[in-house]
Amino acid sequence: MNSHTQQVVIGLLAERTTGERRVALIPSDIKRLLSKAKFLVESGAGHEAGFEDNAYVDAGARIADSQDILEKSDVVLKVRPPAVDEVPRAGCILVSLGGHDSDLGDRLRKRSVIHLALERIPRTTRAQAMDVLSSQASIAGYASVLEGARALRVLLPMLTTAAGTIRPARMIALGAGVAGLQAIASARRLGAVVHGFDVREAAREQVESLGAKFLSVAADVGSGEIAGGYAREQSSDQQALLRRALSTHLATMQLVITTAQIPGRPAPLLIDHETLRMMQPGSVIVDLAAETGGNCEVTRPDQMVTVNGIRILGPTDLPSLMATDASRMFSGNIRTLLTHLLGESGRLNLDASDPISGALLAGQNVARESVAAA
Ligand code: NAD
Repeated sequence: MNSHTQQVVIGLLAERTTGERRVALIPSDIKRLLSKAKFLVESGAGHEAGFEDNAYVDAGARIADSQDILEKSDVVLKVRPPAVDEVPRAGCILVSLGGHDSDLGDRLRKRSVIHLALERIPRTTRAQAMDVLSSQASIAGYASVLEGARALRVLLPMLTTAAGTIRPARMIALGAGVAGLQAIASARRLGAVVHGFDVREAAREQVESLGAKFLSVAADVGSGEIAGGYAREQSSDQQALLRRALSTHLATMQLVITTAQIPGRPAPLLIDHETLRMMQPGSVIVDLAAETGGNCEVTRPDQMVTVNGIRILGPTDLPSLMATDASRMFSGNIRTLLTHLLGESGRLNLDASDPISGALLAGQNVARESVAAA
């Protein structure tokens, strides 16, 4: 807490990860939080997302260099985890992604930095507006269709022209959660004949409500849902059964978007070499699970692999391609989280008994006590 102003100082750092264009907080959200905190922004932090320094100054922030921010801030904000030399001061709270990075966790613990890793936001109705995984998955779902459409040699919509009639492409989303449903909606808008599949039965109605066809598989593939809306992990036999059941359907699709995930586990394998042999040359798979091992056997993160004339893309940076709106949504999530943590008074209060703060503090030394900066 800054002793002169008695206001919490929140520092916004620029992203350093190659290809990361998003920014964690945008000027309009700083303006809305200004009565509760003071803001320091690293010069150029929002440039790649279309938010310039002067907009941050107009919103009430002060531009500073990263060292200044690391030394003076009570709370440091970033999208990606900080670099090794970007260590906030002891007692500081870091809000960023990176919850699965144990080296980062050790580094921060040694420096007595409290890491509120955004992956740990609970999946509850109350916390939904703070959930960056959902907001960014939505963008990834939309962008995956555009990436897939660009890699296809056929059009998605039906076209009836004097030169003849082009049939619409057939598309399927495997995994109909946040990203998959957005992919379905986007492919529908582009005119494809759209299908969806998920092991959670609850997804059927959501897929159908978007005007897409839900694929039913006859085999017992271990459908089910656990707390938080996540899918139950299948056994390896159930996964194998599912792969065979899906393969005949995938053989009829031109665009396949895969989004299937099991939290904290490798992504389920839905497409193997046998399925690739059955699929049509020229078809495209966009595998949004590339970072956790991929839903397709040959997926390589951020590469395009071609097998039997089928292109398999494994993009991991799709939200960053749409950096302005991705940052707007990310920032909206962070503003809601900060509003929650700062309360009415602007007093930073991490109460371990609060369901949101408690989940964010889980696994840290501070988990059992309340952390209050005043
Ligand atoms: P996710 O990223 O964990 O997984 C993506 C999808 O893959 C899920 O729908 C999952 O059921 C599916 N999947 C897993 N294994 C599969 C397999 N073998 N084959 C096919 N599909 C498989 O999930 P998500 O997209 O973050 O969300 C899933 C559900 O949780 C949705 O209903 C969503 O609305 C809900 N949700 C709720 C909140 C909240 O309440 N705050 C936040 C996020 C998500």
